[in-house]
Amino acid sequence: EAMISFRNVSKHYGGGTAAVENLSMDIDRGAITVLVGPSGCGKTTSLRMINRMVEPTSGSILVDGQDIAAQRASELRRSMGYVMQSSGLLPHRTVLDNITTVPRLNGVSKPEARKRAAELLDVVGLASALGKRYPGQLSGGQQQRVGVARALAADPPILLMDEPFSAVDPVVRHELQEELLRLQRDLAKTIVFVTHDIDEATVLGDRVAVFATGGRLAQYAAPEEILRA
Ligand code: ADP
Ligand code: ADP
Repeated sequence: EAMISFRNVSKHYGGGTAAVENLSMDIDRGAITVLVGPSGCGKTTSLRMINRMVEPTSGSILVDGQDIAAQRASELRRSMGYVMQSSGLLPHRTVLDNITTVPRLNGVSKPEARKRAAELLDVVGLASALGKRYPGQLSGGQQQRVGVARALAADPPILLMDEPFSAVDPVVRHELQEELLRLQRDLAKTIVFVTHDIDEATVLGDRVAVFATGGRLAQYAAPEEILRA
């Protein structure tokens, strides 16, 4: 059963050409779905419509069977972690504080939040000692791992990831991909992952949605099918 459904969704920014054109797609629960395609084909727009950072011009999006247009964006986002290309960490807070901020706002006690943050550092493959550092004292790849840990901190069922590994060098990117596949085996989140890299898409995706210029869905299939095309 689908966790996220796009139903005839279009997005036109400021009346211009379509960023996304009549998108209908069911995203599987507990799987990694990758949105791939050339720059400007509507991947980020599609991702951001799921958490209502962007509102569709027409059509509807259901999450867990519920139309998100009828939900408060703040409420909706509790069920969704968001990771982007820049880690977006607060530079003047330690790694541990960055990870615990949202759970603390949600009323989790400080000791509990810190304990969980230490576990999450382990989940993303970082030594717990790094928790005391500031983001600027970490490598790019380490910062992205912290970004993933932070997105997981509230234990959301859905993880939205927008080119999270594209700013790091190829060796580190490969490590991060492996780490994501490893943690997904345990956590079984519903992950929607945006990339322009077809290799990354086929390595990570349980299903791959290929977007074409003009914001159209050109192909939606298992990675083996995409490779054959
Ligand atoms: P992708 O993620 O595939 O690179 P985007 O969803 O970012 O594509 O963009 C799709 C199209 O919409 C592009 O032509 C882009 O320039 C345009 N676009 C994206 N965001 C905005 C915006 N806030 N205002 C106007 N146009 C936008
Ligand atoms: P990222 O690469 O981090 O996903 P972008 O650099 O594509 O983000 O876009 C940064 C911001 O600019 C976003 O808020 C996006 O919606 C907006 N944007 C992207 N393309 C356009 C555009 N053609 N016109 C206006 N705003 C845009």
